[in-house]
Amino acid sequence: MKMIEKDKWEWFGNAGHLIVSNRCRFHLTTKVGPWLISTVGEFVPHRDSKEFDTVGLDRLYETMVFVTKGECDCGCGLPEHDHDYMELEMKGYSTPKDANIGHLELCEKWAKIDYENGTKGMKL
Ligand SMILES: [Zn+2]
Repeated sequence: MKMIEKDKWEWFGNAGHLIVSNRCRFHLTTKVGPWLISTVGEFVPHRDSKEFDTVGLDRLYETMVFVTKGECDCGCGLPEHDHDYMELEMKGYSTPKDANIGHLELCEKWAKIDYENGTKGMKL
């Protein structure tokens, strides 16, 4: 089985998902072949917020995996999600350490999933 080697992964400084991602201080975005692995966290709801808010139910950080489809229209350089699909996988965390580890784990996991066969039988 063909795996997407690490030197073929593309890293982006932009936050890769979530409506309020422009207020997330933590973000990791990696394109691994056809997959976009996006982690966001440390959501600051207001400028004067003293604490980070959750990005989802009971989680301060989350990683989501999407199918990519071309480039984002706005010119930010990110790959566009295929909006016909929901996320393929989601993981939540409480600490930045766990979010960093979890992001890489999902990159490594999806690097081994072939686009043609990998999505068969998956709930997309
Ligand atoms: Zn964009």
